[in-house]
Amino acid sequence: HAPVHFRALLEISRFHGDKVFLAYEDEHITYEEHFRRAATLARRLVEEYGVGKGDRVAIAMRNYPEWVISFSAALAAGAIAVPLNAWWTQQELEFGLSDSGAKVLIADGERAAKLAASGPALIVTRGEVPEGARGFQDVLGEVAADVTLPDVELSPDDPATIFYTSGTTGVPKGALGSHRNLGQSPMTVAYSMLRAVVRAGKDPGEAAGQRRVTLLTVPLFHVTGCFAVMTTTMFSGGGLVLMYKWDAGRALELIEREKVTVFSGVPTNVWQLLSHPDLDKHDVSSLASLGYGGAPAPPKLLERITEQLPSRAPSNGYGMTETTALAINNSGSDYLAKPDSIGLPMPVVDVKIADPMGQELPAGEVGELCMRGPNVILGYWNRPAATAETIVGGWLHTGDLARMDEEGFVYIVDRAKDMVIRGGENVYCAEVEAALFEHPAVDDAAVIGIPHDELGEEVGAVVRLKSAATPEELQAFLRERIAAFKVPVRFWVREAELPRNPGGKILKTHLRKEVLGA
Ligand code: ATP
Ligand code: MG
Repeated sequence: HAPVHFRALLEISRFHGDKVFLAYEDEHITYEEHFRRAATLARRLVEEYGVGKGDRVAIAMRNYPEWVISFSAALAAGAIAVPLNAWWTQQELEFGLSDSGAKVLIADGERAAKLAASGPALIVTRGEVPEGARGFQDVLGEVAADVTLPDVELSPDDPATIFYTSGTTGVPKGALGSHRNLGQSPMTVAYSMLRAVVRAGKDPGEAAGQRRVTLLTVPLFHVTGCFAVMTTTMFSGGGLVLMYKWDAGRALELIEREKVTVFSGVPTNVWQLLSHPDLDKHDVSSLASLGYGGAPAPPKLLERITEQLPSRAPSNGYGMTETTALAINNSGSDYLAKPDSIGLPMPVVDVKIADPMGQELPAGEVGELCMRGPNVILGYWNRPAATAETIVGGWLHTGDLARMDEEGFVYIVDRAKDMVIRGGENVYCAEVEAALFEHPAVDDAAVIGIPHDELGEEVGAVVRLKSAATPEELQAFLRERIAAFKVPVRFWVREAELPRNPGGKILKTHLRKEVLGA
C-alpha cells in the first residue's frame, strides 16, 4: 500500500485496539470495533451494492458514529465519499446527490425521509427505514472478528472525497480530494498541535504522553470536522466526543464528563463557550488546547481566551475546503505577538501572495493568497471551467486577499469578493467592520458595496445595535479610526441577527439582496 492511503490509516488505527475512538451519548466505540464495522460495511458495499473504485457513496446525517463508520467504509471500498451538508433542504440534498452521481446514500432517518425517492440505493440509520431502503444494522449483519478490508488497487492520486464548499460566495462546489490530500492532513494537524504546545511554553513530551480527547463541535461534512479533527484523532489514537448538535452548555457538560483535552471548532463555538453563564460551574481543567479556524476570528476572541481560560494553548487555523482543511496556522506566543495574523504556512504548503497576473508580490503588499502542495485538491467535481480558473499551474487561487510580513506571517485582509472598490480605491470590508466593532453600541456589523453611478461603488453598513447610536455618531467614530473614503455613507439598522451560515460566516449575498433588493 502507498503510505498515504486512507486504507493505511484505517489499518494503523486498528493498533489502538481497545481504546475508545468514538463517544456519543452512552455509546463508546473502540478502535477495534470501528475497524471491524467499517471493514464489514466496505465488504457489503462491494459485494451487495456493487460499489467499485471511483463510485460515489454519499453520507447525509448528523455527527453520529455511523457517519465515521460509513466514511471509513466508503474509502476502504475504493469509492469516493460524498459528505452532504446535513443542514441542507431536501432540494439542496437532491442537488448534492445528482451533482455527485451517488450510487449509494447512507442517511439518518431525518434525511432518509426526505430522500427516499431520490435514486441511489438507501441505507438508513437512527430512524424509520422507508420502503425499498435497508437499515444500517441489517446491511452490516454479522461483524466477524477476523474481517479484513476488501481488495482494491488504489494509488495516492486517486480521488477519495467530494466535499462541498460552504457556498458563502455562490453555489457550493464539489471539491474533489485525493488519498494523498487526506493522507497528509493528520500529519499537518499533528505538527501544528505540537507547535501550539511548544509555543505555549508547555512540555511537548508530557502532552504527547497524555491521552487526547477532542470535542467535535462542528459538522463532519465540512473539512474542519472531518480532517482537522476526525482523521487526525484516528491517526493519534485519541478519543472523539460527538454531539447531537452544537450547544455550548452541553459542550461544557461533555468537557467535564469525558475529560476533554482539545476543543476544536469554528470561532463562534469558542465565543459561545466563553459567553456561557455556566462556564464557571463546570470543571474544565482537563482542557489543554483551544483550536479554531475556518472563518475569521472576532478581534476580541484571543483576549477573551487569555482572560477567561488562561494557560490553554490557543491556535487559529486557516484553511479551506480546497486545501483539505488546515494550511496556515498561528498559535501560542506567535499568536499573542501577532494576533491579527493567521500565522505561518504548514511545512507541506508553498504560499505566495500574487498580483492579478499570478506574479509573486514583495513582503507587505496585498494580493491574492495562493497555495501549492499535497493538500490542494485535484479540482472541482464536473466543473472543468471552475477548476481551470482556480488552480493555475498547480497554484490554488484562494480568492482571499492577504499580505505576508518579513518573517513569513500571513495576514488575511479580506475576501477578494468582499472588497468594495470606491472610485478605484480598495476598501476592505473586514477593516471597516473591525473599526465598527470597537464602538460599544455595535453588536454585529457587515459592510457591503452599494452600486454608485460615479464611483462604481459606495460603502454601506448593516449593523445590529446593543444600545442606541445614530449613523452620524457611528460615522464620526469611524472617521477617527479609518480614512474618510472608507467610512460608510449609508447605514441599515437590523433588529434580527445578521444572517450567518452555520460556519459563522455572514451571508453577504443575502444581506445585499435584503437591503438593496439586488
Ligand atoms: P464558497 O467557496 O462556496 O464561497 P467558503 O469559501 O466559505 O464558500 P470554505 O471552504 O468552507 O467555503 O471556507 C474557506 C474560506 O474561509 C477561506 O477562503 C477564508 O475566506 C475563510 N477562512 C478560513 N479560515 C480562516 C481564518 N482562520 N481566518 C480568516 N478567514 C478564514
Ligand atoms: Mg471558497
